[in-house]
Amino acid sequence: MVAPTLLSRRQPTQSLEISGFRERPDADGRLLGHFPYGEAQADQLIVFQPGIELNVQAAEALDTMMRSASADGVDLRLLSGFRSLALQESIFFDVASERNQTAEERAQVSAPPGYSEHSTGYAVDLGDGRAPETNLSQSFQDTDAFRWLQDHAARYHFVLSFPEGNNQGVMYEPWHWRYEGNADALRLFEPASRFTRRDP
Ligand SMILES: [Zn+2]
Repeated sequence: MVAPTLLSRRQPTQSLEISGFRERPDADGRLLGHFPYGEAQADQLIVFQPGIELNVQAAEALDTMMRSASADGVDLRLLSGFRSLALQESIFFDVASERNQTAEERAQVSAPPGYSEHSTGYAVDLGDGRAPETNLSQSFQDTDAFRWLQDHAARYHFVLSFPEGNNQGVMYEPWHWRYEGNADALRLFEPASRFTRRDP
């Protein structure tokens, strides 16, 4: 008998129908490329820096990784972490309406509510403190911080979620990394990792 809490975390993936979407999730549960994710439990989250919460283990790994980057002269910054479903929903629809985009158009560049890795507490958006103009932009790929992450992030169990040309169908996001360093995260991201894993 599986503990009910595990069961409910294991199955965040019932088809979500979102108002404003004509598009339906496909056979593997994805909506416009994005996999569905449930919301982290409050007792799994800690405040990493003012206004940004993360999963406890992801936070520990990130802290170690940032210190190590700093020792190498790289100024890694955390820009975003956990987002509640309610926050993701308001961001998604507010930005869509601000930019006069349909929900489908918005989903090409931002995860719809219920489909963001950020709601798990394991995903982080990272920036380079010496090049803040590249924050959340594809030009982040040209920074020292990104090059450092490519060489070292795996050691801290951080994986680039949406590499360039990924088969998942999500826009390239060099700033968006997810922690896969515990059993829970590995389970949650197993479907997505089939798209991001590089064959040897
Ligand atoms: Zn992100």
